[in-house]
Amino acid sequence: MIDVEKIRRDFPILGREVYGKPLVYFDNAATTQKPQCVIDAISEAYCNENANVHRGIHFLSQHATDLMESARDKVRQFIGAGSTEEIIFTRGTTESINLLASSFSSAFLKEGDEVIISGMEHHSNIVPWQIQSERYGFRIKVIPVLDNGELDLEAFKALVSDKTRLVSITHVSNVLGTVNPVSEIISLAHSHGIPVAVDGAQSVPHIKVNVQELGADFYAFSGHKIYGPTGIGVLYGRKELLEQMPPYQGGGEMIKRVTFEKTTYNELPYKFEAGTPDYVGSIALAKALDYVQGIGMDNIAAYESELCSYAIERLNGIPDMRIIGNAEHRSAVVSFLVGNIYPSDMGTLLDRLGIAVRTGHHCAEPLMDRLGIPGTVRASFAFYNTKHEIDSLAEGIERVKQMF
Ligand code: PMP
Repeated sequence: MIDVEKIRRDFPILGREVYGKPLVYFDNAATTQKPQCVIDAISEAYCNENANVHRGIHFLSQHATDLMESARDKVRQFIGAGSTEEIIFTRGTTESINLLASSFSSAFLKEGDEVIISGMEHHSNIVPWQIQSERYGFRIKVIPVLDNGELDLEAFKALVSDKTRLVSITHVSNVLGTVNPVSEIISLAHSHGIPVAVDGAQSVPHIKVNVQELGADFYAFSGHKIYGPTGIGVLYGRKELLEQMPPYQGGGEMIKRVTFEKTTYNELPYKFEAGTPDYVGSIALAKALDYVQGIGMDNIAAYESELCSYAIERLNGIPDMRIIGNAEHRSAVVSFLVGNIYPSDMGTLLDRLGIAVRTGHHCAEPLMDRLGIPGTVRASFAFYNTKHEIDSLAEGIERVKQMF
């Protein structure tokens, strides 16, 4: 199981104070803290391994290339992909979905076609499709969210038609914590020959993901939400589809041969990686994946689920507490409102007690509109959090309540 005190010692920042209080960091859905081994991997790369990758014949360049390519293989293994050709390094989930939307739309979408997303998407799985729909004229349809925070699967079935070309949905909601039944959604879409893209920003850090077992055609996630550095992320795509899709950006690395008359593109995955990649980020991300595998994804999921249930139980004991989202399957996120207290007031006052939570619309404004609320307070957990910290949150909320 999880030895949380030992784990906490791996994260230097968890030892610091804010406003003279021990830091209680409950903003893990926005970004996670970094273990020393990841920080050291970045430092080691710049101290001992740095040279631009792929083009060099000299020792260091080849060494850096080997490290980056073994990082790619680590990612492949971590998400259960079949080949490193299917692992594209990006800046993060947002860039992964923009790449997908731009390139997939160019290859496969035209006027009259439809793309299905859901009512609980992060803006990064809405706006890239809107931008492309203006260009290519396809329609975006939205799976409604039920009152308990689950997707309306009956409505989804009714949305699927012979015009549907892609379904793009989040695995886990960053607001409600809902774990969507992506396997079921994928089976249904596939039975109509429709590919499915999954936003894995909030799933990969918390539950074991195997893209082949899920049957996902595309899967996106961010390094910084899984204890890795900022500026690195991944788009997994099935080779057969990626091969039919045009490059996203042009430049170095993504070409085979350039003349003024005609340019031929590099093979996968380099066709989608224009310019100098964040190889240091890839190397440090691989270290982060090693670190979480060392703890074990099953252990992480079990411990975080226990934390989440404890948080819900503690918060439900507070009068005027309203927990937003009550899905049967949920991950390590709890959103709430207390009486008439504005989320930003609650967040600011909790911060003074050393408790970091996020407040606002969480980049999911359509979901806020659906729920009829302007925003929430969100506590999101990681395996280094403790029940004791959740007690501090509950006591903090009680104190803030007394001020109003
Ligand atoms: N999708 C979801 C569900 C998210 O929670 C986030 C980050 N809040 C993103 C996409 C975007 O991730 P990034 O900012 O790392 O690109």
